[in-house]
Amino acid sequence: MADAPVFIDPKLCKGCGKCVKGCGFGAISMVEAKGANKAGKLAVVDASACKACGACVKACPFKAISEVRQKVYGTENVESYRDIWVFAEQSGGTVAEVAYELLAKGLELKAQRGGGARLCAVLLGSSLPETAEKSLVAAGADVVYKVDAPELAEYEANVYVDAVSQLIVKHKPEVVLAGATAVGRAFFARVAVKVRTGLTADCTMLKVAETENKDTGVMQMLLHQTRPAFGGNIMATIMTPNHRPQMATVRPKVFKKAPSDPKRKGQVLVEALKLIAPQTKLVRKVKDPAAIDIAAHDILVSGGRGLKKEENFKLLFRLAELLGGEVSCSRACVDAGWCPVSRQVGQTGKTVAPRLYLCFGISGAIQHLEGIRGADTIIAVNSDPNAPIFGVADLGIVGDLFEILPALVKALEK
Ligand SMILES: Cc1cc2nc3c(=O)[nH]c(=O)nc-3n(C[C@H](O)[C@H](O)[C@H](O)COP(=O)(O)OP(=O)(O)OC[C@H]3O[C@@H](n4cnc5c(N)ncnc54)[C@H](O)[C@@H]3O)c2cc1C
Ligand code: SF4
Ligand code: SF4
Repeated sequence: MADAPVFIDPKLCKGCGKCVKGCGFGAISMVEAKGANKAGKLAVVDASACKACGACVKACPFKAISEVRQKVYGTENVESYRDIWVFAEQSGGTVAEVAYELLAKGLELKAQRGGGARLCAVLLGSSLPETAEKSLVAAGADVVYKVDAPELAEYEANVYVDAVSQLIVKHKPEVVLAGATAVGRAFFARVAVKVRTGLTADCTMLKVAETENKDTGVMQMLLHQTRPAFGGNIMATIMTPNHRPQMATVRPKVFKKAPSDPKRKGQVLVEALKLIAPQTKLVRKVKDPAAIDIAAHDILVSGGRGLKKEENFKLLFRLAELLGGEVSCSRACVDAGWCPVSRQVGQTGKTVAPRLYLCFGISGAIQHLEGIRGADTIIAVNSDPNAPIFGVADLGIVGDLFEILPALVKALEK
């Protein structure tokens, strides 16, 4: 039988039975033990029922119960892992904006980590222009690991997984970050499985701090990976104490880009990897005419369930046109079939960071607010003075959107 996560010292146990009541899993029982103590009973724990919650440790007034540190089957030589890596997604030689945002956060993490950790970018592709690696150095990368191979000419998850996994095994980074884009989401989790570590998806906060490893009691510099959980009702901070690297994805626009410095110096290391052959052949690329990138816009005019029907979005489109912006919406409007999901802002939609977010008839549910934390100015129109959107709005207008919206359009048209 496996060892129990708690140890009950028979020399200290007084047979009072308080731990039996304290255990919510029925894992402790009393057994007859004449002469062991005045009560003639001892507490024993059933290892197969114990959930390692630790409640009995607190319940015992005689300090007879202690937690047993379990053997941890993690990555070997966790201490030998160094450096903070950012996967620099690119298309046609142009590096995705999210890579620069992650490098800006990487600079902070490097400073928090100390100990000579370097900030590195991983650039994969074929016939990559020099401008790509230079832009990564300018954005803060001390080192760019560049893999330029014909197998990487078009994105294919299998080949990307192979390339990044090989680099991780060879160079042992402590932290690896990627954008939670269509590409990042599709291959990064598979890299984590391949190198046998964890991955926290869609982080909204990241920091490195000295933290006790609860399994070993050793103090470590760990990556605190914070993301919304339970439908956005709580923020969960997840750590990966026993496995390396510590991997996380972050959505575009969650972090802000840092100013780039073309004078910054960095090393470009060209990696010649033996890669698996791609399994697919790209015949042609077709742009979806309905695809809209709301995250790329500086002004968003957003509508919610308060607009009542699809037809009423016409006014929002007119306002967006007059302001030189784009129309976005809450999930309620996508669920109602009024708007495509590409326009949805929020936890299960897009994270946006416009200069102006002007919203009509949106209540401000936590899952919606999660997507607009980076907006510079939020203006909200809602008939309910207690709507949560007013808690984050820089300017709130309590009123009927069917009066305010046409009046605004009319005034701008003049
Ligand atoms: C796991 C999960 C993920 C989710 N992800 C997202 C997400 O990514 N994005 C998202 O938006 N939601 C998301 N949601 C849904 C979210 O919880 C809310 O249900 C949704 O945001 C509500 O949309 P709404 O504000 O448009 O509608 P409502 O909450 O119904 O609000 C409508 C508002 O319109 C106002 N109003 C009505 N009539 C008028 C009028 N004439 N003039 C002015 N104001 C008026 C009302 O006072 C009300 O405040 C998610 C939920 C879950 C559980
Ligand atoms: S650790 Fe929790 S589950 Fe295990 S015996 Fe103690 S109280 Fe019960
Ligand atoms: S609470 Fe402590 S002293 Fe009392 S029975 Fe449990 S282990 Fe023994």
